[in-house]
Parts: sequence; C-alpha cells; structure tokens
Amino acid sequence: MSDFDVDLFVIGAGSGGVRAARIAANHGARVTIAEEYRVGGTCVIRGCVPKKLLVYAARYADDFEDAAGYGWTVQKPVFSWQTLIANKDLEIDRLERAYIANLERSKVNIVRSRAVIEDAHRVRLVATGEIVRAKYILIATGGWPSHGADIAGLEHVISSNEALDLKELPKRILIQGGGYIAVEFAGIFRGLGSEVTLVYRGDNILRGFDDDVREHLRGEMEKRGIRVLTRKLVEAVEKVDHGLCVSLSDHESVTVDQVMFATGRRPNVSGLSLERAGVALNDRGAIKVDKFSRTSVPHIYAVGDVTDRVNLTPVAIREGHAFADTVFGGKEVIVDHTDIPTAVFSEPEIGVIGLTEMEARERYARVDIYKSSFRAMKMTLAARDTRCFFKLVVDGESDRVLGCHIVGPDAGEMIQLVGIAIKMNATKADFDRVMAVHPTAAEELVTMRAKAATYVREAAE
Ligand SMILES: Cc1cc2nc3c(=O)[nH]c(=O)nc-3n(C[C@H](O)[C@H](O)[C@H](O)COP(=O)(O)OP(=O)(O)OC[C@H]3O[C@@H](n4cnc5c(N)ncnc54)[C@H](O)[C@@H]3O)c2cc1C
Repeated sequence: MSDFDVDLFVIGAGSGGVRAARIAANHGARVTIAEEYRVGGTCVIRGCVPKKLLVYAARYADDFEDAAGYGWTVQKPVFSWQTLIANKDLEIDRLERAYIANLERSKVNIVRSRAVIEDAHRVRLVATGEIVRAKYILIATGGWPSHGADIAGLEHVISSNEALDLKELPKRILIQGGGYIAVEFAGIFRGLGSEVTLVYRGDNILRGFDDDVREHLRGEMEKRGIRVLTRKLVEAVEKVDHGLCVSLSDHESVTVDQVMFATGRRPNVSGLSLERAGVALNDRGAIKVDKFSRTSVPHIYAVGDVTDRVNLTPVAIREGHAFADTVFGGKEVIVDHTDIPTAVFSEPEIGVIGLTEMEARERYARVDIYKSSFRAMKMTLAARDTRCFFKLVVDGESDRVLGCHIVGPDAGEMIQLVGIAIKMNATKADFDRVMAVHPTAAEELVTMRAKAATYVREAAE
C-alpha cells in the first residue's frame, strides 16, 4: 500500500494545471486536481476566450460602416451588450464542460475546493479540511490582477475580471495601463461605442514591443477616437452624481462611468502557505523553478503564470505537458521559451515574434531593417483611414530574420505562420524566395526589397 493518496496533486485547473493533470494521468499516474473557481482557469473563464469574443463583437462596428463603400445599405445597427455577455457566458459554460469531460476521460479526480500546502507532501482542501498525501505536487495557480498603489477610491476600480461581466456597457470608461490587456479592452469598448480614455504612466503604450509598433498602434488608436494620455497616473477616484471623477497626476480630472485598471498581474501565491513546504520565490514574487519547472523542493513543481516566465496560455500548456512527460512519462522535456510568437488583439491587431529593432541592435554587430506602411486593399472602397505596418529585423551578417512585427488585420494569424520560418532560422533571402500571394496584405512579408536602415555597431574601444 502506497504512503500517498495520489501520485500527483495539481493546485489550479487552468491552462497549465489541466494539461499536466491529463497527461500525467494518461501516463498512468493517480491524479487529483483542485480548482477553487471554475475549471478552465483564466484563459477560458476570464482571459483569452471571453476577451476575443468581445473583440469579434467590437469589430462588427467597422464592418457595418465599411459595407457602405461596397454597395451595401445597412440600417443603423443596434447593439445589445446584454445579448453579447449572455452568449459569451453560454460559450464559456460549454468550454468548461468540455474541460471537465476531458479530465474525467483521463480519469483525473476533480475537487471543487481551494487547496493549500500543509507540508512538503500534504495538501489541505479548504472546503472540507481533508488532507491529501501526494507524491508530487504541481502548483498551477496562475496570476491575479494587481492594482498597484492604494489610492483613494480604489474600491470603485474594476479589473479585466469584472470588465467581462459588466451589467451595462459604460458610456465612458477610463482604462489605466499600457500593456496588452489595456489596449485590447480600449479597442473593445471603443468599438462597441464607449468613449475611451487610456492613461499610462510611461512614455508610450506597449512597453517591450518594437518602438515603431508602439507608435503605429498609438496613432491608429487615436484615429479611432481613443484618448491616449501618457506620462500620467490615476491619483484618486471619487463617486460623483453622474459617474466617477478620476483625478490624474497633472491635476486634470475626467468623469466617466467605469474605471478599469490593467496595471499588471502578480503570481497567485498569496495564502498558499508555500513556506510550509519550503518552496522559494524569486525577487518578483513568483515561484522559482529550474528548466524542468521544478521548485526548490524536488518533488514540488510549478508551471504557468505563477512562475512568471512568459505569461501566455500556450506557454503554460507546454510547461504543464513537459512536466508530466518528464516526471511520469519517462522522457525529459525542456520548454523552449525563445522566439515565442504572440498577438495583441488591439484595433488594429498586432502579431510579433523575435527581437525588436533595439534588442537586435544591442546584440548584433550589423542589423538591417525592412519596413512598410500601407493601406490594405479592403480599406480603399471602405474609405477607412487606417494603415498596416510590417517590419523585419535582420541580422546583417548572417541574413537571418531575427524579428517580425506586424500591425493590421489578421496579424495574429500571420505571425503564427511566420513563427515557423523564424524557428527554422529562415533568412531574408528565404523570405524573398517565396512567391507572393496576391492580393493580400501578407505578401508584404516577401516583397520588402529595400532596406529602410542598416545599423552597424561601433566596436568597443
Ligand atoms: C484579460 C486577459 C486576456 C488574456 N489574453 C490572452 C491571450 O489572448 N493569449 C494568451 O496566450 N494568453 C492570454 N492571457 C494570459 C493567459 O490567460 C494566462 O497566461 C494563462 O491562463 C495562464 O495559465 P495558468 O495555468 O498559469 O493559470 P490560470 O489559467 O490562471 O489558472 C489558475 C487556476 O488556479 C485556480 N486557483 C488559484 N489558486 C488556487 C488554490 N489555492 N486552490 C485551487 N485553485 C486555485 C484559479 O481559480 C485558476 O482557475 C490573458 C489573460 C488575461 C487576464
């Protein structure tokens, strides 16, 4: 008789936890997974999926307008936020059921409870007080929105969690933050008809992205009527007769109906009692792991946002899968965290992979830049003032494409495919050998002939 009740106890049924649980069970492990809220985690319940459904909804606004240039007469469209949210909820319920069914098919035991660490091999289920003895523990508790400093009126501020479930569409919304969640929600609310003000403390939105992309997106957001205020902070929020009065750091104030902060997410470790098992955190408050996602305690692992490596769903899934294969499948798998393609579902959309121009110029002796900004064909008859932007960052010595940055419709779809070429170390000459698909926007990837710039790093003295 084993000393353990289970071979693996997974805390958190989100992207990483669910994948790890299923694969470990398929390898023959006895697995229990605990979830305190809903199976599917952030991505399915209050992240990628509901957000993308709202992005689709918002984009219809442009489609209705643009149709006129193509000969359509469209009656004034009427939008119902309540219908959208109800339909979104139905889809999320369906997905949650599918996740549960998949876990059950793999014979994973699902426990609806918060779970906390009791000691190095024992987990306590908060709902019942039951203690489960586990040979291995996987922490996959994700991240949680962080509102930053405790300003006056913070209780009136919502995060992306609540923004997806509002009872009414706000007529006016102020969003603080400059990351991908902030710009995505700005696009959603603007598309659906809200007046949107985006406030960000830095110089420009999307820190960490290529500077041209940041500039291009900001310009496009402003053209759409989003007020982008940079180098400013929300200092207080006060409830007034007709909404919320937001005081900004430059003494300006804005009155809106909703205030949303998208000011970052923290690893979700609070109250887990990690110290009881001796699991160490890094200086950012995330669980410290090695390349196999093993924590400072050899039989306790952690995957996904709680480790704050690259906080994206496909990464959490890969990490969960690699953990299960390594520990229960008899084959060591290390996740490659380099050159991860990613999209921002802003309006217009962004797709990027690899190095920004500045990163490349810091690391490579000679860097060639190719870029192009143009009006997509569909926008001509639509008479819409919006432009696409494409940029390739190339190692001037080996000709390898180091980075690709796209802003425009379907950029997320395009970057997934460019990602394959870049992972295969494609050169600019390889891109150029490919025949263009005409007429598309993506053909720009293989037709950018003239260098926009070449940077040669000066040799160190
Ligand atoms: C608004 C938003 C939009 C996003 N959009 C995208 C996108 O477009 N593309 C993309 O790739 N990524 C996106 N992300 C990020 C993505 O959702 C996360 O990277 C991903 O969900 C991380 O998976 P995870 O397994 O680490 O954690 P999660 O999916 O967060 O799962 C953690 C689970 O653990 C549960 N839990 C926590 N503590 C306990 C406990 N003590 N006991 C029991 N259960 C517990 C939580 O309830 C949760 O269900 C988005 C995130 C947000 C917030």
